[in-house]
Amino acid sequence: MAIEPRDQQCQTAGREWACSRPVDRRTATGTGPIRGRVHSVESMGALDGPGLRYVLFLQGCPLRCAFCHNRDTWSLWGGQDKDVDEVWNDLLRYQSYMQASGGGVTVSGGEPALQAAFVAELFRRCREAGIHTALDTSGYARIERADVREMLSYTDLVLMDIKAMDPGLHRSLTGVDPGRIRRFASFLADQRIPVWIRVVLIPGITTTEENLVALASYVRTLPNVERVELLPYTKLGDHKWAEQSDRSPLAGVREADQSDVERAAAILKAGGLHHVWIDS
Ligand code: SF4
Repeated sequence: MAIEPRDQQCQTAGREWACSRPVDRRTATGTGPIRGRVHSVESMGALDGPGLRYVLFLQGCPLRCAFCHNRDTWSLWGGQDKDVDEVWNDLLRYQSYMQASGGGVTVSGGEPALQAAFVAELFRRCREAGIHTALDTSGYARIERADVREMLSYTDLVLMDIKAMDPGLHRSLTGVDPGRIRRFASFLADQRIPVWIRVVLIPGITTTEENLVALASYVRTLPNVERVELLPYTKLGDHKWAEQSDRSPLAGVREADQSDVERAAAILKAGGLHHVWIDS
């Protein structure tokens, strides 16, 4: 394995979230629309859920994934401060495209669960308007929290990463323990909320037979999983690390190729997973 040692910032993974959070604020009177920190918007996304989607990327992430393509979303203090009305009015401009294509709204990040009250209010409005909602999450969220459960009550589909099965490998890849993510996944299964699992194939790290066999065994225990998407590791996001005066810990690892993907798909199918999708 060739994951380089983390710098000081990476070693704070999971802790920044417990500090002051510049998100989910209401106005000074406590009665205004919920505010959130928005990184960016993709108005016609075709990769994050069914159909054409309005994809909202929120700012802030408690993880420090070595393969992160959105390194610029990590800080809780970046992005733009917006209230939920502003985002709602913007996405309504695309409602006809979403509905004609069988699409909807996806909230991604960063980690959207970090701003669960904001997402809950946005998704509540979508549910009322008949707009499909998808949450693209690491699953690193406290499922005991009322705002997280409220957010999920308005979520039609969860796109959830599984980074690695071995807890030690998970910690070295992401900076956090997988326990909280497993509890989040169990809650989704109990509630029968549909899930698409996403797996980043990193050559020699997550493509090992041991990891993939364990992944297949685990996913088979989750009756709500509709598909498993395989995402080949690429270096397309490396420039964002450089822009943050940082360096990807996977700088010495090659990109995944077609044979990595085909081999991983074969192992997962042999392990009993029949809905394996390959991201091309
Ligand atoms: S959870 Fe997503 S946004 Fe956060 S560090 Fe990992 S890959 Fe990046």
